[in-house]
Amino acid sequence: MTTQQADTAPAKGPRIAVLVGGVGGARFLQGVRELLPDADVSAIVNVGDDVWMHGLRICPDLDTCMYTLGGGIDTERGWGRVGETWHAKEELAKYRAQPDWFGLGDRDIATHLVRTEMLRAGYPLSAVTEALCNRWQPGVKLIPATDDRCETHVVVGDTDNPGERRAIHFQEWWVRYRAAVETYGFATIGADDAKPAPNVTEIIGAADAVLLAPSNPVVSIGSILAVPGIRGALRTTDAKVIGVSPVIDGKPLRGMADECLSVIGVETTAEGVGRHYGSRSATGILDGWLVHTTDTAEVPGVEVRSVPLLMTDPPTTAEMVREALELAGVKP
Ligand code: GDP
Ligand code: CA
Repeated sequence: MTTQQADTAPAKGPRIAVLVGGVGGARFLQGVRELLPDADVSAIVNVGDDVWMHGLRICPDLDTCMYTLGGGIDTERGWGRVGETWHAKEELAKYRAQPDWFGLGDRDIATHLVRTEMLRAGYPLSAVTEALCNRWQPGVKLIPATDDRCETHVVVGDTDNPGERRAIHFQEWWVRYRAAVETYGFATIGADDAKPAPNVTEIIGAADAVLLAPSNPVVSIGSILAVPGIRGALRTTDAKVIGVSPVIDGKPLRGMADECLSVIGVETTAEGVGRHYGSRSATGILDGWLVHTTDTAEVPGVEVRSVPLLMTDPPTTAEMVREALELAGVKP
């Protein structure tokens, strides 16, 4: 296996670690890359959405980051491959194969086939991701939060047995039910035995700045933090940890983060999410918190700044990253 470009080219800029989910994370990384083309950027990517379907291992957030940064994303949909076709999905439907609610595109399937074959041959997900990135050259290191199975499941009401509850995979809750079912909580299956992927805690420890992308605080950032050791690494690094609010004017941008926040009893406001993460000077993970220009927030122990947070395009997002780095005391 050869290594990614980011490994071989000596980095000139600062060392930045970024915790990311899918669409929001990928857009934020585009801004990081735009601002710091020469920096040593490591993205620690959520794997809580990962799932087996039709015998294939699917890693939605890793793929969204890889395709977005590699120029292969369908920009209108925000996920999956540009120029996608759906013949395999149609054929599966004719066999009445389940699940039938997941968008599995033909081009995308090739990625899942390569990944699944390598996993079956014994490579850890981090090595598989590195191999896939040899094709896509994302320009930043994409590292799964863990090589272990650590999946987000959702506890919902069991409509077949009134009064009972059952757990379903996050993908089923999100994609099939659009989060519109009676929901009681989230569980990260496998978290007890999971370890961070190789170098994840070291990268956080050695970073000049650690950034939390404006990703879903519960099922993207929250699922990364569920991997034992990662929260501890954030709490002990010498770098400043700066978060970016995914909530603007009391609403998440794109997606249904508010459904997730309400399940765990967190108010869908920039202040609510900031307080949920909490200050490193107390028991939390933040030193700084960026909220949108129209928002205010008071988070005890955390320096809050209001700056434009709309990721309209990479240059605009780069300005947002510049503000985050300034708050971290790092010169781009
Ligand atoms: P997913 O895994 O594909 O759901 O993506 P992420 O978890 O990485 O990001 C989803 C979050 O990104 C949502 O909660 C949105 O509120 C947030 N988001 C999307 N676009 C923007 C934007 O332009 N600005 C900000 N601040 N947040 C955004
Ligand atoms: Ca996701």
